This record gives sequence, structure tokens and C-alpha cells, in this order.
Amino acid sequence: MPADLISHLKQELQGVREAGLFKSERIITTPQGATVRIAGQGTPTLQAPDGRELINLCANNYLGLSSHPRVIEAAHEALRTHGYGMSSVRFICGTQDVHKELEARLARFLGTEDAILYAAAFDANGGLFEPLFGEADAIISDELNHASIIDGVRLSKAQRWRYKHNDMADLERCLQEAASTRFKIVFSDGVFSMDGTVAQLDRMRALCDQYGALLGIDECHATGFMGTRGRGTHEHRGVFGKVDIITGTLGKALGGASGGFTAARREVVELLRQRSRPYLFSNTLMPAIAGASVAVLDLLEASTALRDKLEANTTWFRDAIVKAGFQIKPGTHPIVPIMVYDAVKAQALSARLLELGVYAVGFFYPVVPKGQARIRVQMSAVHEREHLERAVTAFAQAGQELGLL
Ligand SMILES: *Cc1c(COP(=O)(O)O)cnc(C)c1O
Repeated sequence: MPADLISHLKQELQGVREAGLFKSERIITTPQGATVRIAGQGTPTLQAPDGRELINLCANNYLGLSSHPRVIEAAHEALRTHGYGMSSVRFICGTQDVHKELEARLARFLGTEDAILYAAAFDANGGLFEPLFGEADAIISDELNHASIIDGVRLSKAQRWRYKHNDMADLERCLQEAASTRFKIVFSDGVFSMDGTVAQLDRMRALCDQYGALLGIDECHATGFMGTRGRGTHEHRGVFGKVDIITGTLGKALGGASGGFTAARREVVELLRQRSRPYLFSNTLMPAIAGASVAVLDLLEASTALRDKLEANTTWFRDAIVKAGFQIKPGTHPIVPIMVYDAVKAQALSARLLELGVYAVGFFYPVVPKGQARIRVQMSAVHEREHLERAVTAFAQAGQELGLL
């Protein structure tokens, strides 16, 4: 490698470090669960306390399915019956019965006609827009949409509009400006991951109907637990069956392995199978993940116990952390942003929590706006009340020590 390139890369890395944006990864030595152990790794200020168990408040393991015995057993079973890998893309020889079964089950769960699997939700979003929308069309996005939606929109030739985050008046402005385009789609995260903000899908549906636009949502932080049956934000907002395109992940609430999907009308899914590049040119989802995901949907269709417990945990924790003296972003989502405002203090709080046995991560600029630093915690159905009580106690102690309360 040329010396000038190496020194350029070193400089880039140094720039990331100096901007305080360097992300170090802590190493977990256990399955994802209510508690985890981490190896003695990380930056000096974030030393793991000697392999002790930490209460885990930062996984997207909303329903606790990442290490659920039935899910693990179903993965083993599919591994035995369908092998380890498909060694093929779908259209050559990469489609098994278990993949078709999962697509049909996802469609039923989400209230759409069909669904198509991808290696990740990032790919589902990356491969969604370019096959469906061209120069004559309009894509209207919330300004805080996930990076994968932004990238997917960039790959299409459609005309683009962005509305202010969650601002329905500004969305209407975009719809008016896009009036002369052929097809229009409004696309938004169902739930936004930094604040736990829930998109106003009922109002968005009404606006889309008024201006003749499709409505699409990314349900990565919603599928499995939002709504009374856990179907997602569309159920939560009373528009189940009325959202045109739904993308989502198998990598969060639905077991946490990996994989994504797009659920929509039959014709949309059919065209994606023909033209969506991450689907056409990337390997099939591992059969064990497909089999385990079917078992996940069995669990969720048979009982709402897990999403009910998650909801109860969320309500309890939001209330308790406020009583302890912290400010949170109000809401009902299991993402609970505990506001610290100051980036340095947020880092200090996160480091002290780690010492006190709580694994929770600080977020600051540029991930969130300047002066909006926070600890973002996420509730799970695997948390027992005792875990949450210990977490609140640790927050209160660390908060007092750091003069935050
Ligand atoms: C996590 C996430 C993704 C990416 O999901 P993967 O399946 O891990 O690629 C996409 N969109 C949103 C909104 C997410 O939160």
C-alpha cells in the first residue's frame, strides 16, 4: 500500500478520534439477555468491571427472543433439516420451502399480500426505491429517516423531497410541491430510534390519500411489539392493512439474528424479486434464521405475553426513572432517552453506570443534536422488575455523584 495512502488513513482516524467520534466496541462473552458479561476491553474510561454481570439496557432485544429456548431449538431443527447455508442467490438455487414459508408468514403477520426476504433491512431499504420509482416520480422522506432509507432513495432516479421531522404541515407542503409528478411515495421510519418518536401514520395516511401518494414505513423498531397484537406502528396508529410498503428487520425484536424484508402488495414484491439488486445479487438468508423466524411468528401470533410484559416494563421504568429525578423524552416506546444534555456528562454517567453494573450507552453530537446528549436505554421483555429496580438505583446513585440530580 502506498505510504501516502497509509498516512492519509492514519490522519483520517486521528481526525475521528480528535472529534470525539471514535467508536470502540466492547466485547460481550455471553448471549444477549437481561444481563451480559463483557471482556476487559474498551477505552480506558470505559473499562469493563472485571467480567461481572451487567444489566443490559442497550440491546434491540425487545422481546427477549435473542436467546429464547424455542427460537434456539427451531434454529437447530432447521439446521438439521435444511443445512447450514444455501450457497446461492434466491433465483438460481437459493429458495427453500422454509424461505417461502417465512415470507408468507411475515405477510400475514403484517397484513400485506406478500413479502420478500433480504440479507438485512439495510438491503431491503437499499433495494426498494430504484426498481419502483423513476425520474417522473416523487419520494418524500422524513429528514430523520434511517441511513439505509437515505441510501436507497439516493440510488433511485426519482425526484426527492424532505420534510421536517414528524412535521405534518411540512409534509403537506412537499405533497403539494410534488403534485405534478407521476407516482408519489411518502416514506418514514415507523419509530425513530434516537427519541422513540412514533410516526403519525394516521395523519400521514390521510394526507397521502388526499394527495394520491403511497405510504411506506420502516418498522425495524416496531415489528413484534407495537400495537396490541405487536404487528407494528400501523396497528398502533389504527392503520393496519392501510400502509402500502413495510420494510423491517429480523435483527431486532424478531430474534435478533439478521435478515430483513419488504412486505407489500403482490405486484410490488414480484417486481422487487425481478429487479431489486441486493435481492438478485446477494446470498439467501441462512435457513436456520428462516426456520427460527417462523417459530418467532408462531410465538407472537399465539400470545401477546411478551409484548405485554415489554409494555409493562416500559411503563414502570419510565415512571421510576422520572421519580428518581431524571428527565426523559416523553412517550410510550421501550426506547427511553434519559436526557443529560451535556456530552461530557453523558459519557461520565455511562462510564459510572458500567462500574455500578449497568450497561447503557451515551449518545451525543453528531448522532443527536448538539446539547441533546443522552443515555438511551431500551427495555426488554427479558428484564425482570428486579433488574429494572437495580438499574434505577444505579442511575440515581451515579446521577447524584455527578451532580446531575
Ligand atoms: C436497525 C435498522 C435498520 C437496519 O437493520 P438491519 O437488518 O440490521 O440491516 C434499518 N432501518 C432502521 C430504522 C433500523 O433501526
